[in-house]
Amino acid sequence: MMRHTKYLSLFLLWPLVGGCLITALWLFVARTSAAEQTAATTQAMRNVESLSDAYAKQMLRSLEKVDELTAVIKFFWEHGPNAFDLNELHARGLFSLDHKSVLVMLDANGDLRSATFPTTGPSNFSDRPHFIHHRDDPSDAIWIGTPTVGRLIKRPVIQVTRRLNKPDGSFDGDLIVGVTNDFFTPASNGTLFGKGSAQALIGDDGKIRVALLGNELKIDAKPALRIGAGCAISDRAARIDGGCFSDDQARYVAVTALGGYPYKALVGLSEAEILAPVLALKGERTQIAWISTLLILVFSAVGLGLSMRLYSRRAEASQVRMAYRLATENGKDGFYLYHTVRDANNDIVDFRIVDCNEQAARFVGSTKARLIGSTFTDHYGGSPHQQMLVASYRHYYELGEGEDEYEVPPGSIVTAVWMRRKFVRTIEGLAVTMQDISDKVANDIALVRLANHDELTKLPNRNWLMQALPALLAQAQREGTQLAVLFLDLNNFKSVNDTLGHAVGDQVLAATAAKLISLVRPHDHVVRLGGDEFTILLRHIDNHETVAQTALRISNDFRSPLRMAEGERRIGVSIGIALFPADGTDASALLKHADMAMYEAKIAKGSHSFYAPSMSTMREGQALLEEDLSVALEQDQFQVYYQPRVCTATGALVGMEALVRWISPQRGFVAPNEFIPLAETSDLIIRIGEVVAQKVAVQLRSWIDAGISVVPISVNVSAKQFNAGQVATLFKTCAEHAAIAPQLLEVELTESAMMGNFDLVANQIAALSALGIKTHVDDFGTGYSSLALLQSLSLDVLKIDRAFTANLGVRADSEILFHAIIAMAHSLGMTVVAEGVETQQQLDIARRLSCDEVQGYLISKPVPASAAEELLRVRQAAPSTLTPV
Ligand code: C2E
Ligand code: CA
Ligand code: CA
Repeated sequence: MMRHTKYLSLFLLWPLVGGCLITALWLFVARTSAAEQTAATTQAMRNVESLSDAYAKQMLRSLEKVDELTAVIKFFWEHGPNAFDLNELHARGLFSLDHKSVLVMLDANGDLRSATFPTTGPSNFSDRPHFIHHRDDPSDAIWIGTPTVGRLIKRPVIQVTRRLNKPDGSFDGDLIVGVTNDFFTPASNGTLFGKGSAQALIGDDGKIRVALLGNELKIDAKPALRIGAGCAISDRAARIDGGCFSDDQARYVAVTALGGYPYKALVGLSEAEILAPVLALKGERTQIAWISTLLILVFSAVGLGLSMRLYSRRAEASQVRMAYRLATENGKDGFYLYHTVRDANNDIVDFRIVDCNEQAARFVGSTKARLIGSTFTDHYGGSPHQQMLVASYRHYYELGEGEDEYEVPPGSIVTAVWMRRKFVRTIEGLAVTMQDISDKVANDIALVRLANHDELTKLPNRNWLMQALPALLAQAQREGTQLAVLFLDLNNFKSVNDTLGHAVGDQVLAATAAKLISLVRPHDHVVRLGGDEFTILLRHIDNHETVAQTALRISNDFRSPLRMAEGERRIGVSIGIALFPADGTDASALLKHADMAMYEAKIAKGSHSFYAPSMSTMREGQALLEEDLSVALEQDQFQVYYQPRVCTATGALVGMEALVRWISPQRGFVAPNEFIPLAETSDLIIRIGEVVAQKVAVQLRSWIDAGISVVPISVNVSAKQFNAGQVATLFKTCAEHAAIAPQLLEVELTESAMMGNFDLVANQIAALSALGIKTHVDDFGTGYSSLALLQSLSLDVLKIDRAFTANLGVRADSEILFHAIIAMAHSLGMTVVAEGVETQQQLDIARRLSCDEVQGYLISKPVPASAAEELLRVRQAAPSTLTPV
């Protein structure tokens, strides 16, 4: 802190000194200029006083001259013997006149008597002010008029006049001396007082007689000089405002009385002229001051910059010292100072410790005293480990500085497992700090494990897979072997989670993981991707067959129940397979393709499926189909068709199966096989199931309303929908809304739908039968065909898949199988239906084998509601003659 304030004041000094200098400079400039101005003004006042004195004297002389001349002529005129001509007197040299002056004499009427120059033009001047003045004023004194243009000489003149008297003293005209402005100008060139000067002759009556600005005689209307309020003239020199002069220039003015005459002489000196040199000087000085200011600013800035740099250099240096001290003092870090050891070629061959701290010695289980002075050779005796050490130290020496994390190899004298080393080159060697980071590294490893493992299943996770797979692929490539990526997904896991809770779901996942591990070879990898998705990496694969076998082994194994803490549970699995390098050369492509193949397996209800390039385009098509399906639901594009089921013996209509049809505005008539499997991969199937059940119930209601006697209608319920656990409720509500008896509805379930959680399945079937709703086992023979399952659940109808029916009369053993199924079903109290009866022969065999009911194109294809209604009406009329049986 102390240091900082010290440097801060150092930094402040520059602007401070600069600021002071600039202030002083400008003060000096201002003061000097002001003083010069005052001096100039004072001088001007003094000058103007003496100038006005001189002017007054000169005026006096001039006036005296005119006074004398006019006095002489007046005397001659008044006392002379006879009249005379001025021109003649002048010509004779009786009096002398300045060359520009003229003399004129008027008589008592104002008429011209004579003049000193030849005259033309007007001859009466009785209207002239001087004439009127002298006529009315008996005084003999000379009188000065205001400038005017002489009527006879036709140029500006000032008239100095005197009264002439008759012997009796009465008025006898006047005598006029017309003078030019030269008369009142002190010097012939007129610039003695300066171009801006003013001169004036002012009567004691306060009237201005003559006023000259810049020596020019003004005779225009606007007077050159105003006297009066605001423009007072006193005897002392004073500044008079510009407003008092017609040219608006302020002036220093002095006035002197003309002794003996009622006039005063005025001289004014232009303030602008007086101050011009002073102002010019001031301007120059200001300019210099500006330049100096700029220079001072630049110097201050440079000074500030330099001292800041100096400071930062010092700060840096002190930081380096501090860091060094820290490095050496920190108890955790070992600090070593090495000097290079060179051979005859000046190559570095070893390093010698010239200084170290205690911690450094502890790292190698030694003491500071013993360590200082030792070389690597002393510790390792030229071993490969030493060579490696010297090589790495030399590397950092050449680099100048660097740092690394270093796993201490066996054989080192360093006791830690992991070290962080920092190197800085010094003049003669290397400074090295070492820190024991063994704990940190151990932590990092644990964290990496955590990030790469799934806690629940203890399997590596997706993170691990994405990091490890590229390396495994590279290895497979090097070794020229294939690698299989298996993508596994549990069937209906979501419903397990939804209906049995997450705890059970977790147990299923953990048991699945354990099972998968037990099913692969030790060098294969089982990964949990997330949710119910697993990946298996099968390494060192030489052909496609081995992969297929493994996939089969896995799916077969999943037919037996998973063993969990809470009992057993059966859950199916779908497997998609992508092979490296055939199906993709990078991790993400392989995973994507395996996923697509899995999807295919799921739709095809097979155990596994290999990726094929066509799946990529297929998947796109499926995505579009899915979109259209949800639109179809929103826009009610589904219709229900009905296929009759008849009694084998009588041909009587005993029931109908509801089969959904999608009439798409874009795709046309879409068969269920094209969209039901896809719908089953998402929740769409559940919504479709609801729609169908509703429509069937409503249809039954409208037939009943129309007075038609109806038969029960069976509705197909997908495994997913059944496992969601809401089927009984759904059918109950549908029946209630349509106000029909629930037993008019029946449910068709495939065996796979009954494979899930047994309690759930049993409860749902019980709930259905409590409502009077019968349960059909659909497509019997294609699925698991578990007799035990049929036994344990009380089911009503068994529908033998049409694949078996198709074989009747074709394969010899088919009848035996058919018969066995019928016998078994009958023993369980179930009604048996043969599906897909297309020929009379099939019907005959079914009848012979005591199959209770038949369904198939031979009887009727699935038909729209209107046609189904017709079938019901015919049945109503003649119940047993309806069919071609
Ligand atoms: P399924 O439940 O086995 O239905 C019988 C299928 O066999 C019907 O096909 C029917 O038209 C057809 N069929 C009937 N008699 C014969 C015959 O003599 N010969 C031949 N070759 N076929 C015959 P469909 O309507 O195309 O339905 C196909 C499957 O789609 C159904 O098989 C069922 O699994 C599913 N499905 C249909 N409607 C629904 C539904 O509303 N909900 C659910 N979840 N699935 C449905
Ligand atoms: Ca069916
Ligand atoms: Ca069927």
